Amino acid sequence: MKIALIAHDKKKNEIIELAKEHKDFLANHELFATGTTGTLIMGETGLTITRMKSGPLGGDQQIGSMIADGLLDLVIFLRDPLTSQPHEPDVSALLRLCDVQSIPLATNTKSAEIMFAAFENGAI
Ligand code: PGA
Repeated sequence: MKIALIAHDKKKNEIIELAKEHKDFLANHELFATGTTGTLIMGETGLTITRMKSGPLGGDQQIGSMIADGLLDLVIFLRDPLTSQPHEPDVSALLRLCDVQSIPLATNTKSAEIMFAAFENGAI
């Protein structure tokens, strides 16, 4: 399965903790991430991740392009709902494409954990 991991700056610690907690699950899948998120997770977990550009520099659009091409199976995007982002249009486009393509999308840690569990036990 191909999984994308993205987190806004104030959610970076959360996605690192999520990746640490579910490292065994994630290690069995092909991982993609925006630049900074990917670098941090790789550094903290040792997981192998294909990194795109940093989100504000086009990374969200690169992930969006993969979604449009049907190349991703699950997207974990820990958004910061309390801080405005300079690349908000890119963020919205990525989220929209998940809905266009019916790609499972988790925008908070609890949802991500439910999806990991669902994939693990074959519910999805
Ligand atoms: P980053 O991008 O992982 O490069 O910080 C995430 C984002 O803000 O979309």
